[in-house]
Amino acid sequence: MAGDAGGYSPLFHTALEEHAAARRRLPEHESLPRVAEQLVRDEMMLDGNARLNLATFVGTWMDDEAKAIYADAFDKNMIDKDEYPQTAAIEESCWRMLADLWHAPDPATSIGTSTIGSSEACMLAGLALKRRWQHARRAAGKPVDRPNLIMSSAVQVCWEKFCNYWDVEPRFVPISEEHPVLDGSGLDALVDENTIGVVAIMGVTYTGMYEPVAKIAAVLDAIQKERGLDIPIHVDGASGAMVAPFLQPDLEWDFRLERVHSINTSGHKYGLVYPGLGWVVWRSEDLLPDDLIFRVSYLGGQMPTFALNFSRPGAQVLLQYYVFLRLGRTGFRAVQSDSRAVAMHLAHGIAEIGAFTLWNDGSDIPVFAWRLTAGHTENWTLYDLQDRLRMRGWLVPAYPMPDDLGDHVVQRIVVRNGLSMDLADRLLADIRTETAFLDALTAPMPTDRPRPGFHH
Ligand SMILES: *Cc1c(COP(=O)(O)O)cnc(C)c1O
Repeated sequence: MAGDAGGYSPLFHTALEEHAAARRRLPEHESLPRVAEQLVRDEMMLDGNARLNLATFVGTWMDDEAKAIYADAFDKNMIDKDEYPQTAAIEESCWRMLADLWHAPDPATSIGTSTIGSSEACMLAGLALKRRWQHARRAAGKPVDRPNLIMSSAVQVCWEKFCNYWDVEPRFVPISEEHPVLDGSGLDALVDENTIGVVAIMGVTYTGMYEPVAKIAAVLDAIQKERGLDIPIHVDGASGAMVAPFLQPDLEWDFRLERVHSINTSGHKYGLVYPGLGWVVWRSEDLLPDDLIFRVSYLGGQMPTFALNFSRPGAQVLLQYYVFLRLGRTGFRAVQSDSRAVAMHLAHGIAEIGAFTLWNDGSDIPVFAWRLTAGHTENWTLYDLQDRLRMRGWLVPAYPMPDDLGDHVVQRIVVRNGLSMDLADRLLADIRTETAFLDALTAPMPTDRPRPGFHH
């Protein structure tokens, strides 16, 4: 056993550590637990600080009670419904609460599931759309080989994956200065008898803006009237489906709109749980074709499951249940409106600096983006500001907008539970200081460095 000669254990000077540099091969020998732990912890130190990571939507803070539950639950496998029947029952409670929160007309006939994240949830929802379309087409004696799905060019990458993996043609409605989100315009030209559905996003990843789902539904209503095509909507509420019910309760984006067949959200985003947890709910069972469902043994009976993975952690489902019980509706409203207040405070502070033009102000979900005001400078870009902020520990990504707006580089802040007003003021001060530093340059910053990619 390396490194514990005579009870003296030189943690930072061990045989294993000498070998660590190689790191491509499983070590030949065992090492003491604390030596191995130290090696892992040393590497973890080199990651960014999660709390200062304003790029991610994903939860980076939970309270101590949640951590205690987590520690007691990380051995639970979600698929073992027979062995952990109560975890399975809690999973069902959670999606039923979501069906109710999202105004399913009869939550008792809704159906849903937890997933590893919104990406899996979107795959499942997309598969249901595709399979239903196939059944209807086959029943009518029509071909099923060319399905298409309509969405904004600013969709999250999971929709491009869905289309790629399951042979569905993606039809993108390009966003533009006049139409910064999918708003129904351009749909009529793209919809046809092969359209399996339209994706509407509550909280566009690039900017945090809501797409007007009711307006999109109204356009599809008109299309049905004129052309007889009944096109369903899936709402990608990865972030917004856990914000809108509390901050914009009167906004009709959910199952109140009949055309909305299914909704997904990320439990690990504004559901306030550590990664990875997602949810998908269908307004009623008939919208999820039975031939997609597998049955696993459960309490001597059969439990329906619809998932891409088999084994997956069950702990996050328990954490979600804890957060639901802990916060309730008033608690969620308080947490999300605090985050929104911080986002809007930051947005207004950044607008006041004078160098930037806001894309939006964080009043939908607590996320906003800005660009460098046209004509402000030739000497630096938002990538330079991103780098300067990174030197101070802040991760605030800059990235180009999609397609037609690709010339516009924006920078985005995602405000999550845990970014206090006090911390936000420190960030604002750092943005001011670094902007002043960049504005004082008398020559352009070198621009040949590789640019980091978009943080979805
Ligand atoms: C984050 C996000 C996703 C993907 O969610 P994961 O939970 O990270 O898999 C999908 N759609 C939108 C709009 C998102 O913001």
